[in-house]
Amino acid sequence: MKKSFLIGNVPIGDGSVTVQSMTNTPTYDVEKTSEQIAKLAEAGADIVRVSVPDTESAEAIKYLVQKSPVPLVGDIHFSSKSALIAIENGIHKIRVNPGNMKEKEIREIVKKCIEYDIPIRVGINKGSAGLKSPEELARLTYDSAKKIEDMGWDKLVLAVKTSNVSETVTAYRKLASLCDYPLHVGLTEAGTAQSGEIKSAIAIGSLLLDGIGNTVRVSLSGNPVQEVYAAQKILRAVGIDKRFVEVIACPTCARTCFPVDEVAKSIEEATKFIKKPIKIAVMGCVVNGLGEAGDADFGVAGGKDHSLIFRNGQKLKTVPNDAILQELLRLTEEF
Ligand code: SF4
Repeated sequence: MKKSFLIGNVPIGDGSVTVQSMTNTPTYDVEKTSEQIAKLAEAGADIVRVSVPDTESAEAIKYLVQKSPVPLVGDIHFSSKSALIAIENGIHKIRVNPGNMKEKEIREIVKKCIEYDIPIRVGINKGSAGLKSPEELARLTYDSAKKIEDMGWDKLVLAVKTSNVSETVTAYRKLASLCDYPLHVGLTEAGTAQSGEIKSAIAIGSLLLDGIGNTVRVSLSGNPVQEVYAAQKILRAVGIDKRFVEVIACPTCARTCFPVDEVAKSIEEATKFIKKPIKIAVMGCVVNGLGEAGDADFGVAGGKDHSLIFRNGQKLKTVPNDAILQELLRLTEEF
């Protein structure tokens, strides 16, 4: 069993897997940062991290936590000073990197976290600690957590990130074998939206399928809202999040009778805020249509001018091809 506790009002270690992201506005710019936090929360982030590089940013935490709809994590490097201010100003969790902080500074942060009942993420990145192997990274992170535990605090979340898929998976597997702390999983510096999403999906998805990971972050360059959507797609692909409309679509071929991709994308877009487990199949022809999409709640199998609408593997009706989208949307609403 994992240790379980709250980050603000969000549980961790209780069997759920939450989605995190991180702002990229200057934290001291409270208007811009609040606005970005609200957008991340609206997209589905459960927890948002903000950098706290200086005392001005630490002072801004007071305002940010009041405005934020989700718990906030303060990201601290090098010095304890801004961490102590952020904790007094109501931050819900602190992330420290023992790879770049003196033990004396860590001790000060831990004392303050105990006083304010604030969990700590111990997150070491392979690059920042100058380590050679993922196993070393896991061991160092575990040892750092043990030191904090010896200081009297065990509301700890651990993370061991690298920018390499295989090393990240190895490091987390090792760490999971060493401890029962909740784990924050992700790749660091994964890259731009497309390549970063794929690398993150392989690393995070592999770990989640192993039962490793309690909160995830997909690190991408650019708009952090994309990180939230990417994380949600991973949770859905591995079956952790089932409350969404899944649109399955055939890859299309010479038999395709209508614009499958266009219809599938339109349904995905129209249903993206529906939080119910519904499976809709968009199949380009009747050859494989019914057979391969038999487990869908409903769907379409294309015909020359008219296409077959089916529900639970049974024929429901035929509709003209230019009415397919409208009919599928109507069935979604009815469902
Ligand atoms: S379902 Fe039909 S159109 Fe789609 S790929 Fe298969 S054979 Fe081709």
